[in-house]
Amino acid sequence: MNVAPDPKSIPQGTLFSPEANQAVALVTATGLLTVDLDAIVANWRKLEKTAVPAECAAVVKADAYGCGAEQVARALAGAGCKTFFVATLDEARVVRAAVPAASIYVLGGFFQNTGEAYAKIDCKPVIGDLNELAEWDVFCRRSGWSGGAAIHIDTGMNRLGLTVTEAQGIIPRINAGDHGITLVMSHLASAELLNNPANARQLSAFREIASLFSGVPASLANSSGIFLGAQFQFDLVRPGCALYGINPTPEADNPMLPVVELKARIVQIRNVERGETVGYGGTWTARRPTRIAVVSAGYADGYFRAASANDGTRGAEVVVAGKRCPIAGRVSMDLTAVDVTDLDKNAVRRGQWVTLIGEGITVDELAHHFGTIGYEVMTSLGKRYARIYKGGNATAEAPAPPPAEPAVASS
Ligand SMILES: *Cc1c(COP(=O)(O)O)cnc(C)c1O
Repeated sequence: MNVAPDPKSIPQGTLFSPEANQAVALVTATGLLTVDLDAIVANWRKLEKTAVPAECAAVVKADAYGCGAEQVARALAGAGCKTFFVATLDEARVVRAAVPAASIYVLGGFFQNTGEAYAKIDCKPVIGDLNELAEWDVFCRRSGWSGGAAIHIDTGMNRLGLTVTEAQGIIPRINAGDHGITLVMSHLASAELLNNPANARQLSAFREIASLFSGVPASLANSSGIFLGAQFQFDLVRPGCALYGINPTPEADNPMLPVVELKARIVQIRNVERGETVGYGGTWTARRPTRIAVVSAGYADGYFRAASANDGTRGAEVVVAGKRCPIAGRVSMDLTAVDVTDLDKNAVRRGQWVTLIGEGITVDELAHHFGTIGYEVMTSLGKRYARIYKGGNATAEAPAPPPAEPAVASS
């Protein structure tokens, strides 16, 4: 007798083919986040071409801006990316497990007594302070570790980094050789604004100090910095946001491909009389007999309350059955009401998927409604979504386990 697999017996987190994964997810999920790894790879290749002959690294901090550091790092390593940046050691561990041969830098600063942890997973601290450098040196001397570190120099952002004067102080060490410094870097504060004079100031300060680090590769550009021109690209570029489809050139059209698509389901459809209000606080009033679709995503899913629509202010929009529909009332924790009055009655069904990101709604557009930037939209993407990965050879690089077998063997 054949026993059909019980969906409940499938361990959470089991990896299937995208199609099987989607089929399982579709049954119970209330939100569906699709990450297009092929689009991430295409974006990386485009940045790489733009920056050639500089090396193109990838910034995969904050779980690859919400896209999944493990999957993204593996896909990009498959495409030829050799250097990754994360913010913390915990993130570095995840990336190291995914890409055993890559170079990994940790941006977030070096803390005392963390040397062992760096050595254990063979990743490199980005050192931004002379105390950090001294502690790192002590660790390397005592342990014999020679895995290397980056030096971060502040050229105007006033966040992390040695001052230019402090950096000049370590030039004798560079000239003495065997210094253990594998990268000298700085970070642009306003790269997305083409004509901001701070860019030229930072460029000239960095060019001058980096030239003294003879033989050490130099890096200045984030995503937007790559588009400021070849002189900003040095030996290595560090794109993050552009990989994930955020526009690195907000003053012009987005040269990158969209990467994420977000869907939620219609939980209920109801009719609201003219003059009635919708949602918490009654801040949105129906001006006509209105059909409302209540959708299964809210601010707990990273769909910010700032996207709410009130009398007098329009909120974000959602694509229902191929057509843009406005939000009605306040976004609540788990639910958002959408005005679907203008749609054909038969076009809207309970259980139907609607699109919150995708079908023309970009992360940057949503960020505008949220009163923030695409980075915050991406890194706030909720934990309740079923996640589907498309492409990226994700299964080819690391074979997925076979689908769960039924507990009782068939005969
Ligand atoms: C986050 C970060 C990047 C990537 O920036 P994007 O604007 O997302 O491309 C590059 N360098 C440093 C130091 C960073 O902190």
